[in-house]
Amino acid sequence: MSVELLLGPPASGKTENCIERIQNIKSEQPLSKVWVIVPDSQNIFYFRQRLSKAGGGIGVNVGTFSAIYGHILEKNGIFTPVITPSLEYRLLQKTIEEAYANNELTYYSDIRKKPGFIQAVSNVISELRSAYVSRDEFLSYTQNSSKAKQELAHLNKRFIEQLEEINWIDRDGQIWQAISLLENNPNAAGDIKQVIVDGFSAFAGARQEFLRLLSEQVNEMVITFPGKRNSKRVVDRKTTDEIEKIIELLSPNVIEVTSSPRLFPESQYLEKNVLEPGEYEQKKASERLFIEAYSQSEEAREALRWIKNLNKREGIPLDSCAVFAADLNTYRPMLKAAAEEFGIKIHFSHPESLNRSAAIQSILNLLELPTEDFQTRALFNSLHSPFFDFNLETKDINDLEAVSNHAHIVAGREQWEEAWERVLKTNMTRDEDIDDESQYRNPLKGINLQRLKEKFESFWKIFEGIEENRLLEGWTTWLEERLDRLHFYEQIDGESDQEACKGLQEGLSALIMSERISGIHRVDYKRFVSDLENTLKSERLDESRASRRNALLIGKITEARASRFDAVVLMGFSEGIFPVVENPDPFLDEKLRKDLGLEPRLEREQAGTFYQAFTRASNHLLFTRPYLSEDGEKWEPSPYWISAKSLFDKSAVEKISQSQKRHQFNAASIQELLFWAVQQNQLEFQDDQELLTHWQNLQSARLVLNARRSRKASGPYEGHIDQISGALAEKYSSEYVWSASSFETYGSCPYHFFVQKMLHLEAKKTPELGLDYAQEGRIMHRILERVYKEAGPDSNVDQILDLIELIAKGVFEEAPIEFGFRPSALWDVEQTQLLAIMQETIKGLEECRGDWVPVAFEAKFGSDGQTLLSLDIGGESVVLHGYIDRVDKNSNGEIRVIDYKRSDSNLSKKDLINGKRLQLPIYALASQDALALGKVKEGFYWVIKDAKKSSLKFAEFDTKYVIEFSKSVEVLTNYLKSYLANIREGFFHPEPPDDGCPDYCPAAQWCWRYQPRSF
Ligand code: SF4
Repeated sequence: MSVELLLGPPASGKTENCIERIQNIKSEQPLSKVWVIVPDSQNIFYFRQRLSKAGGGIGVNVGTFSAIYGHILEKNGIFTPVITPSLEYRLLQKTIEEAYANNELTYYSDIRKKPGFIQAVSNVISELRSAYVSRDEFLSYTQNSSKAKQELAHLNKRFIEQLEEINWIDRDGQIWQAISLLENNPNAAGDIKQVIVDGFSAFAGARQEFLRLLSEQVNEMVITFPGKRNSKRVVDRKTTDEIEKIIELLSPNVIEVTSSPRLFPESQYLEKNVLEPGEYEQKKASERLFIEAYSQSEEAREALRWIKNLNKREGIPLDSCAVFAADLNTYRPMLKAAAEEFGIKIHFSHPESLNRSAAIQSILNLLELPTEDFQTRALFNSLHSPFFDFNLETKDINDLEAVSNHAHIVAGREQWEEAWERVLKTNMTRDEDIDDESQYRNPLKGINLQRLKEKFESFWKIFEGIEENRLLEGWTTWLEERLDRLHFYEQIDGESDQEACKGLQEGLSALIMSERISGIHRVDYKRFVSDLENTLKSERLDESRASRRNALLIGKITEARASRFDAVVLMGFSEGIFPVVENPDPFLDEKLRKDLGLEPRLEREQAGTFYQAFTRASNHLLFTRPYLSEDGEKWEPSPYWISAKSLFDKSAVEKISQSQKRHQFNAASIQELLFWAVQQNQLEFQDDQELLTHWQNLQSARLVLNARRSRKASGPYEGHIDQISGALAEKYSSEYVWSASSFETYGSCPYHFFVQKMLHLEAKKTPELGLDYAQEGRIMHRILERVYKEAGPDSNVDQILDLIELIAKGVFEEAPIEFGFRPSALWDVEQTQLLAIMQETIKGLEECRGDWVPVAFEAKFGSDGQTLLSLDIGGESVVLHGYIDRVDKNSNGEIRVIDYKRSDSNLSKKDLINGKRLQLPIYALASQDALALGKVKEGFYWVIKDAKKSSLKFAEFDTKYVIEFSKSVEVLTNYLKSYLANIREGFFHPEPPDDGCPDYCPAAQWCWRYQPRSF
């Protein structure tokens, strides 16, 4: 029953000494049982590796503390099931609820349901259990304490009682059982000859007690510990205290290893002097030891670039390298992204929460749809999920998206039902081209809506039965049945997704188990989804064995102990990252921690962690840190960085700036190499065909970028596609029938014309309730058309106003279906406002009635059997079709043409002269020549909202604001000639209109020359 405490600095041969002892005992008594206890799975692997290199370790058990508890308990016939994390979460939830119902929870009552609180209570219980603080001890300690602490003590007691009641144990329960067994049975671990405890730097209370009792039953126990007795060094401060605790507890034979650490020279120098007071010689390092990067993500790239370099150039296997970071949560995604780009296989010491798996997230998103009233965006995200087969083709889903956009479905099944009714009744074959702003291209044209509606029914069936209250077991069966129906498991193929499915099964079993344990009661769907979400959050997404093979280990800096690696990177040596900023625990304060023997939260002596971490490297070591914060502020180095760096000369440090010229042969990925080559304007590896091809593509990209950056848009990358000028001339020959608005679109921006009129793209908008400008304009047009048709030519203003209310009511009633919008809560108010506008506009129109009599409304030319307008533009004709809002005639048989506009933007003479507003002369010519309604005398735009004529009008003579009709025709023909020539030549350059780009331009979402509209 001997106990030895082997003390020594890192890499001084403690583990080697242990292996020798194992071999000695094995050579003398080959069948004797030996146990090696190490901190974690990484160290199990490492110890086994060393053991096998030293000649093998058959019959030697290497495991964590949990493994030896399990062995002793099992050997003595004790098999108590250990609860899974998700089951523990559920049980804790129940414990808290019962305590609340029993009036034991007042201080924490408001936050009792918060997942953060449940997690915090779980941590408190776990810490107390590890520190070997019994429920009664905690209860009596808190008797005279604050309400908060008393409530925690009650929760702790209740939770342990619950476990005992169901005869299960929690994660920390095994050690308590093992201690109790060793106390009561002096031979419980009698079969074990030798126990080696290697790689620890402290033991919590329960482990101390376990080791004490175990040491009384096994033949030999050897505990290795870093540091030495009575050391005054900062880096040993924590271990010095721990050493004294062990000596007091076990009275071991203390052996101090005197050989100096077998570290490479730089590391040895660091080990000896870091954080020591005084001045030291600045040594020259044989390689870089410190890299400062301008951001944390760049730091992650530098760390992995360094590893890749060692792996590829020096042949160091990835599994002999490690990266440790204090704030792994922040660095994790950055390291993941860089590893993916650099092609480095990595694995993390700690798995992520199961909720982070894409497959699990898809299930949760789908289940949350009804609880969020089927928000349209979320619904389509689920429909597009690769994990489900909804029996809908991609085209069906796109068509459904078109329906939801057209019918402005924001959320809810009712909106879908109502939308189907609406769209199935609407005239789905018609497009309208009133003008650019009000034009209406029917997005549902060509969709078999009835068939689509029927196919979509199967989606709603997934959620059948959610209104019931069920047992959790019932809900689990319900979910499994849905997942089968959606062929979820058939879509799973990646290793990570398969692991996620295992986690899902465990989570579902935990739900059922928790119900059996905590009593049966029915819950509604919302509660089931929330319970499932919280349960899955506490499950871990384990990495498969294969994913860990030959992979770089990435872990927390506190885990950098015991194992040794060829190369180690330590990240985050800037202020606030490492040493970690210490905050007091809001639940268990420092005094309580000290009194009950829990680990302190303040003054944690992180120097020891730092010392342990850098001594893990056998041959190569790198410290990294960011020197700028996210907002570009200077980020100060940590004291550990300053101390370590001060021991070496400048050559050991590299500070990488954003503009620094990098050697292309050091690039860790093709993307990175090309990025640097572009920065340096030359590719060094011209003989590599793959790189050369990428490089040439980038040269082309540079030309495109330069073209887009130049002030004036021109050339082939800015819309000049003369390569297809032959095809364009053929398409837009003199036979082509133009809409009246097309040339205006070209005049306002040629690229807008290209995208909208040639590619037929539509601006995609997020569905919103209520009217948009185009719909409002179309309602106004419809009311004016109907009112004047109904009123007849001889009616006066009062008679017309008498009609308007009734007619507007009819238009408003059919508007949502006819014009495809979902009335908002403001629709009643909007109707009142629209009616008032229309009444004012009619008064205005009637005031300038004179002897004009309306004779044509929404008069078509070039369609429905009406003659096209053929316009001679000199040498050829342009043929046009369109609608004319209104034509009036006077007693002389002359006509005036009115084009209604919702608002008065771009309706001046200048807009006609500049070729931006050409409809009015086209309509006037169409009325006169195509429809033969009479000779044009007048013409103007009518601004409905302002109830007045536009400033652009036809008159007998040109003035500053008005234009003679014949002159307007001359302007029109000149522009048509020039626009047509440009279109045939392929000139479609983007040119933002003077007052900015209209939001109905489909290119507004991606156009690099987009200018927001000025109002
Ligand atoms: S966004 Fe502006 S510049 Fe671009 S195509 Fe549209 S109107 Fe032209």
